[in-house]
Amino acid sequence: MTTPAYDLALTGGNLLDPAQGINDAPRDVAFKDGKVAAVADRIDPSHAAQSIDVTGKLVTPGLIDLHGHFYHGGSGSAVHADQTCLSSGVTTGVDAGSAGFLNYGAMRDYVFPAHRTRLVAFLHIGAVGLAANRALGGGLHDMRIINVGETVQAIKDNPGFVFGVKVRMHYDAVARWNAHEAMAKAKAAATEAGVPLMVHVSGTPIPLPDVLEHLGPGDISTHAYNGLPENMLDNAGKVRPEVRAAAQRGVIMDVAHAGIHCDVEVVKAAMDQGIVPDTISTDVHIAPPGRIVYLMNDLVSKFHALGMTLADAITASTSRPAQALGLQDSIGSLAVGMAGDAAVWEQRRGRFVWHDMAGHNVDGALRLDTFATVKGGAVAWREGRLTQMGEC
Ligand SMILES: [Zn+2]
Repeated sequence: MTTPAYDLALTGGNLLDPAQGINDAPRDVAFKDGKVAAVADRIDPSHAAQSIDVTGKLVTPGLIDLHGHFYHGGSGSAVHADQTCLSSGVTTGVDAGSAGFLNYGAMRDYVFPAHRTRLVAFLHIGAVGLAANRALGGGLHDMRIINVGETVQAIKDNPGFVFGVKVRMHYDAVARWNAHEAMAKAKAAATEAGVPLMVHVSGTPIPLPDVLEHLGPGDISTHAYNGLPENMLDNAGKVRPEVRAAAQRGVIMDVAHAGIHCDVEVVKAAMDQGIVPDTISTDVHIAPPGRIVYLMNDLVSKFHALGMTLADAITASTSRPAQALGLQDSIGSLAVGMAGDAAVWEQRRGRFVWHDMAGHNVDGALRLDTFATVKGGAVAWREGRLTQMGEC
């Protein structure tokens, strides 16, 4: 008996892979040695060690969550990535500043390697990240917590693990009189290390334009569609000129939903005026009771309900975040040779209502339900796997 050509084949499905220009067209996908080995109209299942019939289902690249909290056990609000990501079609998660230069070691050496989800980090400009967040409401109350040189060194020492710098511009996290200094230092660290800066822009203690002026092409404005004071709209509901200018110079407008940081009415007004999210992300964390934290499959569905085409919503959760990380040559698409990360979706039709914490809702007619998640060319999660009697 000869060795099968492929480890795994997904047959009979429709492929939506914007980076390849394939828009919901019939394609089979096969994986070998952790990578995509073939994309074709038809792949013979007998050529694969394992094949899954995904007839009637949608296949996309594995989703990339550009803003989550995955330092499980290392900060009070970080989730276990495999439990939240794989079941929602996410194969790559970016930890947004749970650790800083003093406490990233356990994240790199123990927490991330214990997961099947691909995990990378943005280091917080504060030395211990969000470790004290629950107790102190943020990390930048004392400017001694910032050390630009040590942060830069930590980033340079860890290519492939650290991809950026994070700073939280929230009134609980940093005093108004320290905010400019914190922004300048965070930007200096990112520039010196040659990585993007991600800024939390919800509830800024200083005017939003003062924050955005530090951001250049490839930097990330996260929680961009929040509804707190100093959001992206002016009092007349118009996108502020400084926000439009930032978007035009290539600042990435990232959702980081988290329930409290994304207002349906702000999204609608901004999208009407052409400021469409570049990247859809969750800000997944262990939330207080009553807070709605949607996972990626629901957010893709919600932004589809808000008016993005499904192809655009998938772009914003696959190839676009891959570009933001500089990883567009290895993840975010199912082109041959790319990482073997895929999601298979059941497209549920009906009436679905998505909420935000401001009390605004949006109705949609489509929800993506995860059917299977493939990571590194092997099935990492499959619908119903915990409920099939006798399977284990
Ligand atoms: Zn966050």
